[in-house]
Amino acid sequence: MASGSIPEQLLMNDELIRSLIEVAKDTALLHGVLMRTTESPNFPEVVTHAPFTLFPSPVPKGLFEQALKVQTLFNQLVDRISQDPCFLEEALASTIKVDKFTARLFDIYRHVLKEGRSQSIVLGLNRSDYMVDQRPDGSTSLKQIEINTIAASFGGLSSQTPAVHRHILKVAGLLEEQKKVLNNDPAAGLAAALAKAWQLYGSERAVVMFLVEDVQTNIYDHRYIENELWRRNIPVIRRRFDDVFDTGSLDSDKRLFVGSQEVAIVYFRNGYMPQNYTEQSWEARLMMERSKAVKCPDISTHLAGTKKVQQVLTQPGVLEKFFPDDPEAVTQIRATFAGLYTLDMGAEGEKTVAMALEKPDQFVLKPQREGGGNNVYGADICRVLEKVKGGSERMAYILMDKIFPQPVQNYLLRQGTPVKLSTCISELGAFGAYVRQGTEMLLNECVGHLLRTKSIEHADGGVAAGVAVLDNPLLF
Ligand code: ADP
Ligand code: MG
Ligand code: MG
Repeated sequence: MASGSIPEQLLMNDELIRSLIEVAKDTALLHGVLMRTTESPNFPEVVTHAPFTLFPSPVPKGLFEQALKVQTLFNQLVDRISQDPCFLEEALASTIKVDKFTARLFDIYRHVLKEGRSQSIVLGLNRSDYMVDQRPDGSTSLKQIEINTIAASFGGLSSQTPAVHRHILKVAGLLEEQKKVLNNDPAAGLAAALAKAWQLYGSERAVVMFLVEDVQTNIYDHRYIENELWRRNIPVIRRRFDDVFDTGSLDSDKRLFVGSQEVAIVYFRNGYMPQNYTEQSWEARLMMERSKAVKCPDISTHLAGTKKVQQVLTQPGVLEKFFPDDPEAVTQIRATFAGLYTLDMGAEGEKTVAMALEKPDQFVLKPQREGGGNNVYGADICRVLEKVKGGSERMAYILMDKIFPQPVQNYLLRQGTPVKLSTCISELGAFGAYVRQGTEMLLNECVGHLLRTKSIEHADGGVAAGVAVLDNPLLF
C-alpha cells in the first residue's frame, strides 16, 4: 500500500494526530466547510463541519490534468446527446421498458419534444467523476466512473477545503506539501455560468430558482453559489417541488412564475431520484420543463447523464457520430472509458450475464440511479443476476468493469464518529460548465475539481450518502 505524501511515522503518532484533528475540525468550521446535522437539517442553529480527510491524498499529476483537460469535450458530448432525440430514443428504449423512473423522465422529454422547446438558452453544470485504475504491472490510467448532469454537488464546499488542508499541513510541519495544495474555486465558475445564462434570459427582475429538497443538510454547499449570484445582484430564491406545484404557473408566453416572481433559471439541486417525486412533483417538473425558464439541466440533458447512455457511448462508432470531424476528441474521451456492457435481451446481454457470474469481483452492476448506495458488488451481483437474468428486468441495469485504485492511509473526520486510521481510495471529479444559445456555444469550461475519499470497507456511496468525505489532491 502506498503511504501517499504523508510520512508514516506522522500517521502513527497518536498524540500529534489527536491534536491535529482538533485543529482540523476548528479550521473547517472557521472556513465554512459546513453542513447541517441529520437531526436538524432545517435549522441553521445546528451546524457541524462537513466530513473531510485529515490529510490531502496523492493523485498522479498527469492524470489530474487529463481529467481537467477532457472536461470541455465531455461538456460538448453531453450537450450534443441532449440535442439528438433519435439517439436518446434508441439508447434508452430497453431501459424505459423496465425502469419506471427513467420512463417517467422520458415521458416528460417526449412531451416537451412534441410541444416544441420554448427556450434556446441551454445551461449545463455537470461533474465527471474518475478513479485512477492501478494495473497489476504498476501502470495507472484515468477511468470515468460516471458523469452527473443533474444536481452535481460540492462545488461550494470544495472551494473552501484547500485552506483547511494547507493549515493542517503547516501545523503538522509539512511545509513543502502545504505549498502543493491546489487552489480550487468551482463555486465561482458555476455561478459565472448561471450568471451568463441569467443575463441572456434578459429580465432584471427574473430570479434564479434553486429547486431544493425538503431536507437541507447540504445547504451551505448551495449558499456559496447562491451568494456569488447575489454579489452580482442576481436575485435567488429557494423553492421545493411542492412550492412550485402550489404557486407556480405559466403565462401565455410560457414564462414561469412562482408566486409573483418570474423565474429565469431553474437550477435543480433535487429531482434526481424516485424518492424526490410525488405525483405533484412530477406535475411541477413537467411545468418547469415546458416553460421558457432556462433549466439546469433540461430534461434531455438529465437523460444524457444516465448510466445506460454511458454504456451505449462505449460501443464502436457511437462517439464518432457525435464528433464526426474530430478524431482527436474521440480518442481523448474514449481513453477515459472503462469497459461497460449491455444487459439488453439477446446474445450480447447473455454474454454479459455469463461474464459477470463467472467473475463477480471484477465488475459493478449498476441500475439507473443516482445519489450513491445503489450499485451491486461481488456476491450480490450473482444474487441479483440469478433473479433477473431470464427476463427483461435485467435491462434496468448495466455492467461495468470494477476499477481498483491504489489504497492510501488517512483519517476520515466525520461528526459523531470515532476517528481511526483507515485504508482509503479516492474519486476525482471535474466540474464542467457550459452555456449555449441556439447553435452557438458561448461558454465551455472546466471550472474546478473535487476529490472525495472513502474507506475501502465501503464499496459504494458518496458524501451525501455518508460514506465518502471531502478531500484535496496532492499531485505527484
Ligand atoms: P451514483 O450516481 O450513485 O454516484 P456511481 O456510478 O458514481 O453512482 O457509483 C457510486 C460509487 O460506487 C462511486 O462513487 C464509487 O465509489 C463506486 N463505483 C462506481 N463504479 C465503480 C467502478 N466501476 N469501480 C469501482 N467503484 C465504483
Ligand atoms: Mg451520479
Ligand atoms: Mg457518483
